Amino acid sequence: AIDFKWIRDNKEAVSANIINRNSNANLELVLQLYEKMLNVQKEVERLREERNAVANKMKGKLEPSERQKLIEEGKNLKEGLMTLEEDLVKLTDELQQEAQCIPNMTHPDVPIGGEDCSTIRKMVGSPCELNFPVKDHLQLGKELDILEFDAAAEVPILSNTCHCSAVLMHVHVTITGPAEIGKVYYFIVSGSKFYYLKNEAVMLEMALVNWTLSEVMNRGFTPLTTPELVRSSVVEKCGFQPRGTNTQVYSIDGSDQCLIGTAEIPVGGIHMDSILAESSLPLKYVAFSHCFRTEAGAAGTATRLYLPLHELLYKEVSVLYGNLMEFLSRGLYRVHQFSKVEMFILSRPEDSNSYHEELIGIEEDIFSSLGLHYKTLDMATEDLGAPAYRKFDVEAWMPGLGRYGEISSASNCTDYQSRRLGIRYRPAQPSSTNSKKGKGPTQFVHTLNATACAVPRMIICLLENYQQEDGSVIIPQPLRPFMGGLERIFPR
Ligand code: AMP
Repeated sequence: AIDFKWIRDNKEAVSANIINRNSNANLELVLQLYEKMLNVQKEVERLREERNAVANKMKGKLEPSERQKLIEEGKNLKEGLMTLEEDLVKLTDELQQEAQCIPNMTHPDVPIGGEDCSTIRKMVGSPCELNFPVKDHLQLGKELDILEFDAAAEVPILSNTCHCSAVLMHVHVTITGPAEIGKVYYFIVSGSKFYYLKNEAVMLEMALVNWTLSEVMNRGFTPLTTPELVRSSVVEKCGFQPRGTNTQVYSIDGSDQCLIGTAEIPVGGIHMDSILAESSLPLKYVAFSHCFRTEAGAAGTATRLYLPLHELLYKEVSVLYGNLMEFLSRGLYRVHQFSKVEMFILSRPEDSNSYHEELIGIEEDIFSSLGLHYKTLDMATEDLGAPAYRKFDVEAWMPGLGRYGEISSASNCTDYQSRRLGIRYRPAQPSSTNSKKGKGPTQFVHTLNATACAVPRMIICLLENYQQEDGSVIIPQPLRPFMGGLERIFPR
């Protein structure tokens, strides 16, 4: 239930918000469609009334000619009504589709602008001092024998001017040097950006998941595992676009189901189309799931590999070569499938800002307990996506990559998702009101989501921050009980 009347009445604020968020929503079109829909709705109602009036007239005693006239009239009205009702369904669909693009309104404290305008809320610790040549997680993963990239068959490059060929996305590309003597990988089982964890890394993933789950459960959250295939309508209602060329969502051919990009979607869907008791709020969930993302349009080098390679001009291929090597050395940072523990809260509207603070606080506790150096950011308007009213990201130091990388994100989506999902609650009536107990008007709940642990980037942080000069990696204290007491991973 998108509040179109509110949008119409607050057109200027909505329009400014669309500009601030650099959204491509077409407000004018939405309002035009809305007006059109209201007119058609009125006309449908008018025709229904007329049809009912004709039906009522037919109940009385009538001359045959008069009855015949009314039958004709009724038939015409029915046909007209059917056409208009079909128009109404089409218009409503079109309106909903266009309106999906209108972003949530924005918290007044959110900085306006692009990523660079995001402000730092908190800085914890400082970069770890590693007084030896620092390795990235890819090299560590290889030396410890804990990480494999999909079907890492190796094509040797024999000289630095040779031509080599790699299979990328089933397209053969000839890559022209400046080739390093070394190896180029190609991908055959699932494609690039898929990986295998091996040996201790498998235990590390399980430990990260179990430890974060227990940390969050200790704070009163209900644990869940979720379906990982959901209907595309639910994806849409949560504010994601399941269709289109740039979609982040994998759809299943021949079905209306999609693979989830985050557990937020199935958890948000649990209470779809329901009215909750005020006393049941807040509902706090912590969900484990796998996440699947096409990463279409992701900025940077990895994206270039997803261009239709066969369409690229030959001269561009040498540029791609550098990107290919760079991408391979990025490893786990941006992958198509990963495990994640996600927190989700449904609350009364007046409480959502304070639960947002609680969620970012839990994330910070988790990263501090693991001894990471990180900063928390208040994300600027252009980086909020459609559903969030305000978003706090955490970026941790990754010494091997030599930069900070986003490891988690906490969003207050206010009533953006609950309006679309139809999740309401009935506020208890103050004793002074006349309405019957528990029978006041319903309101939409607020929804919030936050990452407790996105495994691959956490593995990057742990391997790169806890590497030792001898090539081993120390396991942080909190995870050891979840790894059979293992304190360190040694190179094989
Ligand atoms: P989001 O749901 O987009 O806010 O992402 C939550 C967290 O998941 C991010 O902060 C990252 O740590 C992680 N993440 C998102 N996309 C990917 C990806 N493609 N590969 C690995 N981790 C990811």
